[in-house]
Amino acid sequence: MKIVVIGGGAIGASCFYHLVERGAADVMLVEQAGLASGSTGRSAAVVETQYLDRDRIALCAWSMRLFQRLEREHGLPFVHHGYLRLGHTAEDVLRFQRSVLIQREHGVTDAVALDPDEAARRFPMLRLDDVSGALFGPSDGHVDPVRYCELLVERGRAGGGQVLVGRRVARLHLAGGRVAGVDVDDERIACDAVVNAAGAWARRIGAMAGLGVPVDGYRRQLVVFEPPEPLRRPLPMVVDYTPGVEREGLYFRDDTARRLVAGLHWEIHGDWERPDDPEAFRTDPDWDYVARVAEPPAGGPASTRSRQTRSPLSVPRQCRDSTTPSGVAASGSSSHPLWGRSWRTS
Ligand SMILES: Cc1cc2nc3c(=O)[nH]c(=O)nc-3n(C[C@H](O)[C@H](O)[C@H](O)COP(=O)(O)OP(=O)(O)OC[C@H]3O[C@@H](n4cnc5c(N)ncnc54)[C@H](O)[C@@H]3O)c2cc1C
Repeated sequence: MKIVVIGGGAIGASCFYHLVERGAADVMLVEQAGLASGSTGRSAAVVETQYLDRDRIALCAWSMRLFQRLEREHGLPFVHHGYLRLGHTAEDVLRFQRSVLIQREHGVTDAVALDPDEAARRFPMLRLDDVSGALFGPSDGHVDPVRYCELLVERGRAGGGQVLVGRRVARLHLAGGRVAGVDVDDERIACDAVVNAAGAWARRIGAMAGLGVPVDGYRRQLVVFEPPEPLRRPLPMVVDYTPGVEREGLYFRDDTARRLVAGLHWEIHGDWERPDDPEAFRTDPDWDYVARVAEPPAGGPASTRSRQTRSPLSVPRQCRDSTTPSGVAASGSSSHPLWGRSWRTS
């Protein structure tokens, strides 16, 4: 049985690797640009298990074991600065405590729920006076997303899989209601199945088979800041956001001692910045967004109103990427956000 995996991002590379590892005899990965050239290579690349619902925790715990194995056995760059999710209500605290128990069931034993005093003691560089509690995963962190894809693809190739990079699936051929082949550029390749791991392009791939795949790309952005003073490290990924809350939240993590990456996360999508054509994503800097990250609007949560006026987020240097056809089909994600959180550098 021949299987063609379409897309060389985190999801396609993982499907490719796991299919080969589990004994599929004839697997081919096709990537139109470069490995990790879509959302994957433009992400914050944070890997963590600090979710609040059982299914996502189970999925992330499983993934974490893969990242750890790749780090241990193949040297995947994995910076373990931790992941700190902040809460603002008594309900958040209960959800954090429940998350710790569920994580333990799934083999993650070092996650802890922190009360405000303990959080402030552990993270003196953060201003945490308005939190009700925090959820902290000390062994979480960020990986090199390009190397991650390369490693999976190398392992899959070593196991007998084939890889075509810089080649585009232009058409699917069907016979009797089933996939019978793909056109890679203008070369016809017979196959018995395809995996649609094309991220923001997944809808387009589905349409080639007459299927409606409900995946759309939305613009997401990361902003790179250079604080005036070196950061006190290790600074964990800080996320001022709890899933299911209808507001946007800030997230940030250190990149180097002089660089911070930050962005906003929200769950409710509008129709803005949703082009029909994933190629049409804007990639120019969006200075309104930079300003929203750096200077939260008045009337936000308490931390916004009471925050110190001087924030390291006030030194934008560049707006990395912008674009990002982010999508999920055979799809992924893992992680994700602090309004007006300021931190001390000394
Ligand atoms: C700003 C930002 C920050 C993020 N931060 C995080 C984070 O910290 N942690 C986290 O887990 N997730 C994060 N995400 C989400 C994460 O990046 C995505 O969920 C993940 O990368 C999706 O992977 P993918 O393989 O589905 O898509 P992609 O990486 O977009 O890969 C799809 C690939 O398919 C290829 N393709 C499309 N059409 C064809 C075709 N016809 N033929 C051949 N190839 C084709 C594309 O070229 C592309 O390389 C972030 C996303 C963004 C945008």
